[in-house]
Amino acid sequence: MIVMGSGATADQIEHVVVRLREAGADARVSHGREATVIGAIGEREALAGLPLEGFPGVERVLPILKPYKLVARELSPDPTVIEVRGRKIGDSFFGLIAGPCTVENREQTLETARAVAAAGATMLRGGAFKPRTSPYTFQGLGLDALELLREAREETGLPIVTELLDPRHVEDVIDVADVVQIGARNMQNFLLLAEVGRIDKPVLLKRGPSASVEELLMAAEYVAKEGNEQIILCERGIKTFESSLRYTLDLGSVAVLKEETHLPVIVDPSHAAGRRALVLPLARAAIAVGANGIMVESHPRPEEALCDAAQQIPADEFGEFAREVAEVVALMGKQVG
Ligand code: PEP
Ligand code: MN
Repeated sequence: MIVMGSGATADQIEHVVVRLREAGADARVSHGREATVIGAIGEREALAGLPLEGFPGVERVLPILKPYKLVARELSPDPTVIEVRGRKIGDSFFGLIAGPCTVENREQTLETARAVAAAGATMLRGGAFKPRTSPYTFQGLGLDALELLREAREETGLPIVTELLDPRHVEDVIDVADVVQIGARNMQNFLLLAEVGRIDKPVLLKRGPSASVEELLMAAEYVAKEGNEQIILCERGIKTFESSLRYTLDLGSVAVLKEETHLPVIVDPSHAAGRRALVLPLARAAIAVGANGIMVESHPRPEEALCDAAQQIPADEFGEFAREVAEVVALMGKQVG
């Protein structure tokens, strides 16, 4: 990590970048409020020969000891803010991502989209390709679902978050998605991570149920390394001995992630809770611990849902849920959006 002095000129910054690249390193420049920092990633031996500390404009050179580099807070002290159709993600509390677990049909998708849009949600979620535990359950409508999501965005203006399950679908998914979700089960699918590292769309990366915080950050590093640093991390519950919830929502990880990385962090209380009565209390706690946003599932008639019926918030109750969330946000001295 090369910290440039506050008076460093653009030419001096460029000079460091050029010399790093000549030495075979990858150089990433981050312009912070306080200083410009250049992250150099490459073989230590190759860089050791460069007298970086003596270069004009360089203030100091520090090693990043953490295994993740590009996503490390040290490299970019200012939080990353990702823009999705004019909405800013990562700055304070942006709001709610809401929608059905799975796109089931046109009516269900549009009804939910209208309800969450009316309640002020920031984005619409909905699975087209579903990673299901059982191969005998509904696997999603696939490409047809993507068209329904497109229609929902055209009608409501809400940006779309949807999961990419297979690298072969990347073109179809990014044609519709404003944010590409990598599901918990694929958090360490390294080829898929590299694939979304090469797209020009934000990635919502969900923590694997058995993955450590460090493993989540290393997964994000795989995406960033390919050039895409628009990454939103999502805590969605982990497997522990505790069985009273579907998963144990690891809210401590949100506080740790806020220390460790400059990336936005959101929480999905729906999959952790497993039942709707617990979604609001967990969402409240997530906001209090510093989450930048909340992702929840909602369905017009949860009892008919083809997937995750017990945890989806009825669409006609979503407005009330959003109001409750806004109260906690206000309590934290923040505003939604
Ligand atoms: C989802 O959010 O649609 C989902 C499948 O969740 P997870 O990957 O966290 O299980
Ligand atoms: Mn679900």
